[in-house]
Amino acid sequence: MTKRTRFVSWSQSINTVVSRRFSLGLTLPLLFACGGGGTTEPIGSSVELSPDVVLLVGVESTVAIQASVTDDLPVEWTSTNPSVATVDGGGLVTAVDTGTTWVTARSGGAYGTAQVKVWVSPVVTDYKPGISYFGRRQYVEYVPGELPLVISVPHGGALKPIEIPDRTMGVLVTDALTVETAHAMRDALVQRTGKAPHLIISHLKRIKLEPNREIAFGAEDNPYAENAWNEFQGYIESAEDRVVHDFGSGLYLDLHAHAHEVARLELGYLLNASALNLSDAELNAGGYADLSSIRALAATSTLSFSHVLRGDQSFGALLGAQGIPSVPSPTDPRPGTDKYFSGGYNTNRHGSRHGGTVSGIQIELHYRGIRDTDENRRAFGTGLAAAVEGYMVSHWGFFAVSPK
Ligand SMILES: [Zn+2]
Repeated sequence: MTKRTRFVSWSQSINTVVSRRFSLGLTLPLLFACGGGGTTEPIGSSVELSPDVVLLVGVESTVAIQASVTDDLPVEWTSTNPSVATVDGGGLVTAVDTGTTWVTARSGGAYGTAQVKVWVSPVVTDYKPGISYFGRRQYVEYVPGELPLVISVPHGGALKPIEIPDRTMGVLVTDALTVETAHAMRDALVQRTGKAPHLIISHLKRIKLEPNREIAFGAEDNPYAENAWNEFQGYIESAEDRVVHDFGSGLYLDLHAHAHEVARLELGYLLNASALNLSDAELNAGGYADLSSIRALAATSTLSFSHVLRGDQSFGALLGAQGIPSVPSPTDPRPGTDKYFSGGYNTNRHGSRHGGTVSGIQIELHYRGIRDTDENRRAFGTGLAAAVEGYMVSHWGFFAVSPK
């Protein structure tokens, strides 16, 4: 028998997420009995599907699965659960509803299978403050708020689903107790103003997802991690859209934890230590405001940039007034040679460095006295709430009440 490979079809729709190819394609040598006489004749046919692990996101999203067939018989396609996804005679799979199905291609006596998972996000027409909205498998949570404040927590999650392999690159350690600290911040803001901030949490452990890096690095080509990454970023964008709609501008905080030697908050404005180590005059003359994550705030302020960054109306100053040490601040204006985190992907993307009216700050929390006990987290939340209110009233001219 002449062996030949038939490529049935291959294309991929834009909203389809396909995994790296796993070698699950089945190759089944078949013994064919003819005439009942006991003679067997081997037919070396096989079917391999590519991709063979697929996540489709959204109703009617599609993927065309390619069948490599070693004979020239027709290929017959079936889906074990057409209420999840259907397949047509050419291998085109179409999503119907959330669930898992197996798509099989049969040719002669051989077959290959592909696992197709579908995630259809519930349609939400109006996000209600204080209600938790979850993405697929509750990996990512969004608690909408009413304040012009968005808080995200990328590294505090605890979930380790087996469908996502452990990441292999970069920093893998969890920011311990940052989810709990974010909830303490939210509680304190509600207590203080009667209104809540928008809160976005990744519940995946950092070894499964890094939502503070670009997707290729943060999800390592795994479709389930990529979907969670998109949900995390999408919820932040939804929250900022809401803030801009309601207030015109606002503040974004990306919450992290550090284990550096100096026990202080590290406030990241996308300016590294060598920039912050400059004099005020150098900072103000060097165009650093436009490189910072508070570019929009600096542009509307009557104060000099260094004043906004570390003067008596800076976020660091207002935290200091609450007994919370931070750098940069009037009493601690420069990191010097100490280790210091200046801000990451989220602060860069969701602050105002590249435009927009929502300015951003990365907050790196030390452990002792801040994250370590429930009592300390509550005390920190209370101080943070006062500092945020003072900061926004001072620079934006509003906080809990919309200016419109
Ligand atoms: Zn972190």
